[in-house]
Amino acid sequence: MTPAELGEFLAPHGFSAVEARRIFAHHVQHARRHWDIKNMARQKLARAQSLLDTPTLEVVDRRRDPADGFMKYLFALADGARIEAVRIPIFDDKYTLCLSSQAGCPLDCVFCATGRLGFKRNLSTWEIVEQLRIVRDEADRPVRGVVFMGMGEPFLNYDAVIRAARIFADPSGGAISGRAITISTSGVVPAIRRFTDERHPYRLAISLTGATRARRRSLMPAAEKTWPIEELIDAVREHAAVTRELVTLEYVIIKDVNCGPDDARALCELLQGIPVRINLIDVNDASGQFVPPSDAERRAFFDMLQPLGAPIVRRYSGGKDVNAACGMLAATAS
Ligand code: SAH
Ligand code: SF4
Repeated sequence: MTPAELGEFLAPHGFSAVEARRIFAHHVQHARRHWDIKNMARQKLARAQSLLDTPTLEVVDRRRDPADGFMKYLFALADGARIEAVRIPIFDDKYTLCLSSQAGCPLDCVFCATGRLGFKRNLSTWEIVEQLRIVRDEADRPVRGVVFMGMGEPFLNYDAVIRAARIFADPSGGAISGRAITISTSGVVPAIRRFTDERHPYRLAISLTGATRARRRSLMPAAEKTWPIEELIDAVREHAAVTRELVTLEYVIIKDVNCGPDDARALCELLQGIPVRINLIDVNDASGQFVPPSDAERRAFFDMLQPLGAPIVRRYSGGKDVNAACGMLAATAS
């Protein structure tokens, strides 16, 4: 529940809005699992405890990549499904968390380990919030950012994800700036439009990875079939116009597949006039089927995108040694 929902839920039981907010903060912000809340009457605490359920997730495994400090958490859900989250060090003073929104993913992007897993189910809001609560509880630095770039397609679990984002951004909850919460989608157009209409403070990132229907269809078949690239780009244009911000486009680069001169030309044409920021992500693939381009090939692609005048950044995708990098989350113990 968000603090407002908790307030509404507890009001008929004699709790003031302030008391509800204190209970919320105690459990989310301070990560307390006990009910010993200072200056709250015992009777009231017992009443709250009998009304509220505060379940948690089991941590099955934690693996830290010694090379870059990325840490992957493997969680077990009550029904046996497994999900992962990644703790990402930002310089040496804070963390950003990469969280899962679904167990598995119903989409089938051919380069993604989560897609290959198939789909189990949507996570509920508390299962998303609990990933953060647990990781933050044992972190040695503050958590200042959240990216919905773990397992699953966040915009196919829209309500739970937005409620979790609200809880993260709430000063009594995660106390994370809304601007530091990013939701990444493979292009669920109706949800992008809804997100734009609702004027959230969270940032949007779109996984494009191909500049034409054909290229996208070969790499992200389900997404492209359901939400064709022209409609997706229309929704991106609208989002940029309404928010007056650059929209982040994620482009997974795969050698000999989507980063040649034709791809660069098509991308420039497609994005002309739209204020975007491009994230180039080297493909990670433990199976070796997909390989990232060489430095020279990446540089050539980068140069060919210059006519766009858009900021282009290469995304460092860490935690490779523990299969924590982008596209490697398959909920296994290694
Ligand atoms: N389902 C959402 C969010 C999770 S994926 C989405 O697709 O946007 C987060 C990012 O990882 C996406 O941009 C996706 O394109 C990228 N990704 C997926 N598989 C990858 C791989 N094998 N190597 C590098 N990046 C990958
Ligand atoms: Fe799902 Fe995103 Fe992976 Fe595609 S890239 S299969 S949408 S998690």
